[in-house]
Amino acid sequence: SLTIGIVGLPNVGKSTLFNALTKNDVLAANYPFATIEPNVGVVGVPDARLAKLAEIFSSQKILPATVDFVDIAGIVKGASEGEGLGNKFLANIRESDAICQVIRAFKDENVVHVDGKVSPKDDIETINTELILADLQTIEKVLPRLQRESRIKKDIGPKVAAVEAAQEILEKGDTLFSAGIVQGSGNEELLHDLHLLTTKPFLYVFNVDEDELVDEDFKVEQRALVAPAEAIFLNAKLEADLAELDEEEAMELLESVGVEEPGMTTLARVGFDTLGLQTYLTAGPKESRAWTIKKGATAPEAAGVIHTDFQKGFIKAEVISFADLVEMGSVAEARSKGKARMEGKDYVMQDGDVVEFRFNV
Ligand code: GDP
Repeated sequence: SLTIGIVGLPNVGKSTLFNALTKNDVLAANYPFATIEPNVGVVGVPDARLAKLAEIFSSQKILPATVDFVDIAGIVKGASEGEGLGNKFLANIRESDAICQVIRAFKDENVVHVDGKVSPKDDIETINTELILADLQTIEKVLPRLQRESRIKKDIGPKVAAVEAAQEILEKGDTLFSAGIVQGSGNEELLHDLHLLTTKPFLYVFNVDEDELVDEDFKVEQRALVAPAEAIFLNAKLEADLAELDEEEAMELLESVGVEEPGMTTLARVGFDTLGLQTYLTAGPKESRAWTIKKGATAPEAAGVIHTDFQKGFIKAEVISFADLVEMGSVAEARSKGKARMEGKDYVMQDGDVVEFRFNV
């Protein structure tokens, strides 16, 4: 499955946040036999539609979609040169599908900042500089050979041009992501085999003091630092406290702070979207469940997420939109009113599709 790597300078609250993430482990709750790596936190993506489906189908269980967060230790200045845990750090980032930077904005004299002062802007620059330098090294390793080859093999001209353009962006101190060159998009294809770090989607978590959670001017300022990446604001200590409470107590605590949902819930939702994922829904007496697919996935690909045999033997999908199903109140009623569609192998899944697959085994 796709993973989001969590990175950040030392002492910004990564461990505090990560511990809160793993306490909320939906896998542990819903799949007791699953093995979970110690550095992975699996967070449920809240979806109010599941409760509604569970009501219609009298489901025993609700299984939300999940996002995997991986704790990547070891970013310090010089990581791109192999300082500290530099090499391991870069390898771990390379394996992640998106990069989540935790940025310290909270003020606390008892918690030392590695660079002596709290400055989100400087910290973001420190981390991005290491990632940019790592990408520049990758490019410098391959570009001379590509340029030589292109004199003979004319067809690699566009690739050389793409790599040179990427180098220019990086040399200006920008990430490729911020320049719109993003993994999975058309303009990254020619660079794909270089596995550049800064083509991964970025998102930023600002670990802020409680009063800043509701300070809109402050948030606008920080958002501007990281756009076009998404910014999430949370207080890691509060998240840790929330993870210890039952749902009702947690809601009370949140209300007292003035926020609507736990920061990690927001993080899971935004992370899911940043990864380019969407869900479709299945429902029955056993469970109502959200399944994770790539945006744009076809019906057979969606079936394959449940079981590879479902994809191989795919015949068709019976699809009812969530809104129609709720309006009709049951599958039988939806069928009789013509709201259940039979879709074939070219059908592109839509958000909120409630699906039953037909397949050969
Ligand atoms: P890491 O090095 O990035 O993993 O940071 P830690 O999670 O270990 O946190 C470093 C120190 O900062 C610890 O003493 C935490 O208790 C403290 N800390 C973490 N988050 C917050 C926060 O939101 N506010 C305050 N005041 N302290 C925090």
